[in-house]
Amino acid sequence: MLNITPIHAFSDNYIWMLQRDNLPQVVLVDPGQSEPVIRYLQKNNLQPIVILITHQHYDHTGGVADLLERYPKLRIIGPDRNPSKIKLGIDLPVPDLFTQKVSEGDDVKIPELNISFEVKSIPGHTLDHLAYYGENVVFCGDLLFGAGCGRIFSGTAQMFTGSIEKLMALPEDTLMYCAHEYTVDNLGFAKWVEPESEDIAQRDKQDMQKQEKGESTVPSSIALELRTNPFVRLQQPVVRQAAEEYAGCDLHEDWQVFAALREWKDSKYD
Ligand SMILES: [Zn+2]
Repeated sequence: MLNITPIHAFSDNYIWMLQRDNLPQVVLVDPGQSEPVIRYLQKNNLQPIVILITHQHYDHTGGVADLLERYPKLRIIGPDRNPSKIKLGIDLPVPDLFTQKVSEGDDVKIPELNISFEVKSIPGHTLDHLAYYGENVVFCGDLLFGAGCGRIFSGTAQMFTGSIEKLMALPEDTLMYCAHEYTVDNLGFAKWVEPESEDIAQRDKQDMQKQEKGESTVPSSIALELRTNPFVRLQQPVVRQAAEEYAGCDLHEDWQVFAALREWKDSKYD
């Protein structure tokens, strides 16, 4: 059995830890901080063998150098990228630490956990952004969140929309592990876009209860996102109409609907 455990970092980041049965070897996804990870590993006598990086924002990579110092055999797997295309200032230059650089279509094999992941390129939040898909789970970093999506840093709305389509084409029972706990906030916006939606109202109630109990609302599933996340429902007439009302004009392409929703949400929450 594959167990996936959240290690909390910063105020709302999740560092996902993968463990097969009760074996001591574990895989970490996006360790933005080292301290909480090392604490957890030591307390539970675990040995990290691989780090998977979805993209190079500091809150996903900040713990890599420290962890590598403490566990020198760690293999660090992350996006192959052209640095000239990435906006500077928000990214940490960790590629030098990568032992394997991967891109669309590559297979990441981790024999110690008897698992392999298919690499999917999902630009939009950043240009280098990857998802790791395997064994009915996908790690999608900051592209999608529960009922919402990441901001556009170095990608475009067109890219973002294509990447969302790629993730939504996965089997509907795929569990989606994103890197932040934003679901309840996002559902607030989803209710503005689709005020009549029973699915959104129901998810809001359930996830609010989880949050009050200190439980994680992540993972969700592709099926749940398809019902309750306006950013993956761009072709739904009610979503398109709400985006057109915000934009004040007709929107013909899915990416235009996406761009309007993203701008609307940014303007409400900033
Ligand atoms: Zn990010």
